[in-house]
Amino acid sequence: MPTPLVLVVGGAGYIGSHMVKLLLQQGCNVVTLDNLSTGYRDAVVGGEFRLADLADQPALGRLFTQHRFDAVMHFASFIQVGESVKEPAKYYENNVTNTLNLLNAMVANGVKRFIFSSSAAVYGNPHSVPIPEDHPKNPINPYGRTKWMVEQILEDYDHAYGLKSVSLRYFNAAGADPEGQLGERHEPETHLIPLILRAASGRAQDIKIFGRDYDTPDGTCIRDYVHVTDLCEAHRLALDHLLEGGASAAHNLGNGNGFSVAEVVNAAKRITGRDIKITEAPRREGDPPRLVADATRARKELGWQPRLNDLDAIINHAWAWERRSLGTS
Ligand code: UDP
Repeated sequence: MPTPLVLVVGGAGYIGSHMVKLLLQQGCNVVTLDNLSTGYRDAVVGGEFRLADLADQPALGRLFTQHRFDAVMHFASFIQVGESVKEPAKYYENNVTNTLNLLNAMVANGVKRFIFSSSAAVYGNPHSVPIPEDHPKNPINPYGRTKWMVEQILEDYDHAYGLKSVSLRYFNAAGADPEGQLGERHEPETHLIPLILRAASGRAQDIKIFGRDYDTPDGTCIRDYVHVTDLCEAHRLALDHLLEGGASAAHNLGNGNGFSVAEVVNAAKRITGRDIKITEAPRREGDPPRLVADATRARKELGWQPRLNDLDAIINHAWAWERRSLGTS
């Protein structure tokens, strides 16, 4: 097959920017589409950049007539669970309606391969862990519902229009580019590892632990942290799967190892050598006690082999990025 041309929607964001870099390194041609609402132009390290919003259907039409994309990867969505509860309209409009605009532009222009950033949030409060893909889908907040709605839309679009998709259900994306060029730049930041590292570097005063009274060994929530580079490699494998004529599928992406919030804080203390001030805080609404992936399907069907699958590597890379952002490395 000739060099694939991939449209990366949301390629200026955290995971999307790592994806653009990996695709370019692997010899793909890349166009990034981003409205820069939360992304950064300078995070897009190469390829063509197009500034546009998915709500702008004429702009999408022009993009798809100017390029014959082999596949589309879609990273552009709002991701804050708490905000989604307070402002559901924002989430349904961006994560569902705008995704429909993108899918409809693909159908209208005969582009038939789609890789979607889904989430463990589709499962809600799991009845057991590790969670396989066929676990019931009971999202407990608008964010999770938007992801599950799009997955269901994708099933219908495959049936009706032959649009093949791979939905990748991320557990807790974390870490940074091992070469130090890219990292997490959310403002406001809400994720645990970058917030702990801000407390370690002095950019924040403390880390708040949201709840010590969960039914877990140390009372704090357990999550499955997966390195952003490993997530991107799974996308690349999903792309190959679709380019080879593979069927639509959904896959969990996680390492299958759960770490509690307190364990992550302790690992960060050890790795950074800094004292990190902890403040106890109430539970955050909508947090399930345990989320751990059973990612057997991605390993078997995509051949996914997470390589940076230990918490130390994730924290080390995120710490290098935090220090670089502060100009201290
Ligand atoms: N968390 C915390 N303090 C923070 C941010 C997060 O205790 O300042 C906890 C949160 O309650 C959850 C875990 O860390 O149990 C991971 O949260 P994050 O927002 O990073 O990811 P999520 O699991 O919501 O996708």
